[in-house]
Amino acid sequence: MAGIPTGVLEVRHLVKEYKSFRAVDDLSFTIHPGEIVGLLGPNGAGKTTALRCMAGILRPTSGQVLINGHDLLQDQARAKSGLAFVPELPSLYELLTVEEHMKFVAMCFDTLDVYDALLEPLLKRYNLLDKRNQLVATLSKGMKQKLAIACALVHRANVFMFDEPIIGIDPAGVVEVKDEFRRAKDGGAAVLVSTHLLDTAEKLCDRVIILAKGRKIAEGTLAQLQSQFGMEGRSLEDVFLELTDEPRQAAPVFDI
Ligand code: ATP
Repeated sequence: MAGIPTGVLEVRHLVKEYKSFRAVDDLSFTIHPGEIVGLLGPNGAGKTTALRCMAGILRPTSGQVLINGHDLLQDQARAKSGLAFVPELPSLYELLTVEEHMKFVAMCFDTLDVYDALLEPLLKRYNLLDKRNQLVATLSKGMKQKLAIACALVHRANVFMFDEPIIGIDPAGVVEVKDEFRRAKDGGAAVLVSTHLLDTAEKLCDRVIILAKGRKIAEGTLAQLQSQFGMEGRSLEDVFLELTDEPRQAAPVFDI
């Protein structure tokens, strides 16, 4: 991703209501160039809804999303030109081949000039070389997830949003995806990753944002959260469970 300008994502007072239910409630934050930020929260906290608003898939009830300074609602084409979003359940064009799909995305983002150079390495990295001429419909769930990630990398994005990117991907793929985040970070991209994997978030993310019931309840590095909430030396999992009041799972008892 060398040569691509650095990315910035700014979210200001984002609200999303489904009828009278407020799924995202006054969410504000900024992701700076070269940062990987984890978006954490219990089931139903509003992570996917917030990401879908930030990716321009859902229209927010109010608030503003700026991608590299371009307002997502006012200047959608320019805002989206810098954005790569990988949803939890990617909707791909099943009747294109893997290679056709990659090319289609490159055409949409006007990046055919770099497509030839990127195609082979990406297919190799995501173990899709031998599937390149197969229809997307014939791929396994994990392969589809890998293709969605590879497609996100064939355009000149510098703001990346991933919704649960690691679930369903095999261990080698997980290593690749984590390396991808680090490469994006090193190239100056702004990376937002929603995940329930708190160990991974602790190792991978520079900062985390914790949502509960649509509201941001905490934001910062692990050290900042430990100090703010008097939990020095505790893991991200401990801090998360304390803040979200998630009951701890009792160890399973096997009656044999
Ligand atoms: P998970 O970790 O389970 O994926 P999440 O944090 O991504 O959860 P969302 O999927 O954003 O949560 O859902 C937030 C809230 O909004 C939930 O209470 C959910 O039921 C509600 N919600 C989501 N989509 C809709 C919809 N289309 N209509 C009504 N309510 C919705």
